[in-house]
Amino acid sequence: MDRLNTIINDLILSNEYDLIIPVVKAGLLTLVRDNYLSQFITTIEQISTQQINTYHIAFINFNKQLIDIENYLQTLFQTLENQYNLKLVDIQDFIIKLPYNAVKQQLLHTTNIIKSTFYMKFIDIFEYYLAAYASQHVRIACAELLKNATTCSFCKLPLSSGCKCIELQEQFEIIILILKRLGLLSRVCQSAALAACRHRITNFIKQICEQYSSHACLPHLEQWFETGVLTWLSILESHCNNDHDNNDDKQQSTFKIDLSSCRTELKHHIYECVMRERGARHMFQIIIDYPESRHGGVLDDLKRCVSIVGKRHLIIDNVRNEFNKRLLHPGVGTTEILAAFINAIRVLRYLDSTGVMMELACLNVKQFLA
Ligand SMILES: [Zn+2]
Repeated sequence: MDRLNTIINDLILSNEYDLIIPVVKAGLLTLVRDNYLSQFITTIEQISTQQINTYHIAFINFNKQLIDIENYLQTLFQTLENQYNLKLVDIQDFIIKLPYNAVKQQLLHTTNIIKSTFYMKFIDIFEYYLAAYASQHVRIACAELLKNATTCSFCKLPLSSGCKCIELQEQFEIIILILKRLGLLSRVCQSAALAACRHRITNFIKQICEQYSSHACLPHLEQWFETGVLTWLSILESHCNNDHDNNDDKQQSTFKIDLSSCRTELKHHIYECVMRERGARHMFQIIIDYPESRHGGVLDDLKRCVSIVGKRHLIIDNVRNEFNKRLLHPGVGTTEILAAFINAIRVLRYLDSTGVMMELACLNVKQFLA
């Protein structure tokens, strides 16, 4: 901005006042486009997943640079008015549209610096903030699912002294604000919002299914999904709608979600994840633990998942492999094998009353016992 000051001084000395505004506008636009914006985009692209808690710093820095420009302009215009009695146009509109215009020029440029990797980074960023949102807004269900009511399910800090997730919501608001000012919010949401929800569902279910439990998880998980994930997605969509009202770019389509089809698609993903984590990883414990696994509800969870998702082979393969690995070899008593076999029949018949799953899964055991 020192260079810009020198140019303005030259213009004043040579009485070319009418050139001041165009020069200031062009100078600041170039500064934002070629320096601030490219630094910001490069920082986002280069941050690794492990450093996800530092993402917001790039947004805060960019926001600070915009505030610095605003302060600079205000001081400059004040000086020009006081010293030279020059009345200059309102700067608010120029300042508001400055980041948006810088991006617009970048998008039109043949060597577009905003690559798809920039948009893809937001899958991780959104997942991070969605996790914090869901943890904060669905406390009871999270505590039940993770069997832990004393620490936050996301930031792991004690709930009694207030966890970090409220602060994270404030960071997320700055991120949304900057994306709006850049006119990139809808584009980013189109590339990353739904994928972020899917990632969060996968990772959260992995977290809650890490240990075997005989208890049902679907009722709390569905509550977490409705109040945490879907609400977060709707909030994001409403930000995009507000953004569209202030945006004169008719080319850009607003991020819109069909809540009903999103719900169906993401719930299907939940059932599939539960089936993979519980059914494929814990099936042997579920069998050994019977009838506790039926009373606790985990079997009812699986039954619902199988009826919705299908993919019975995931469970069948797991039962076969586990039986081969743990039971079907010399050294294991026949009584033990028989007890597990009987439980397996009960469990598999409960999951699939046609008996097809049982027949396929227990083929090896039958041959071994014959
Ligand atoms: Zn927290």
